[in-house]
Amino acid sequence: MKSRRVPMRMCLGCSEMKPKKELIRLVKSKEGDITLDLTGKMTGRGAYICRNVECFRKARNAHRFERAFACRISEDLFDSMEAELENEQ
Ligand SMILES: [Zn+2]
Repeated sequence: MKSRRVPMRMCLGCSEMKPKKELIRLVKSKEGDITLDLTGKMTGRGAYICRNVECFRKARNAHRFERAFACRISEDLFDSMEAELENEQ
């Protein structure tokens, strides 16, 4: 019997594999801008985190977003993405 394949992605905060649709994507556009992709429709390179601020903070503090996107991310940008994520819950 074949099991249904659910696309899984790893959260950069807790390192758990979860179904893609339960996670929030951060996207780096080809212009190099990083945004929280709450619609799931933006194009670009993506990194995933759970839909909670704790995982965002963990990933932020461990510099995992910077590593995933291979660039620096300003504190201001982190703060605004964190605020956006908090509003989502
Ligand atoms: Zn997580």
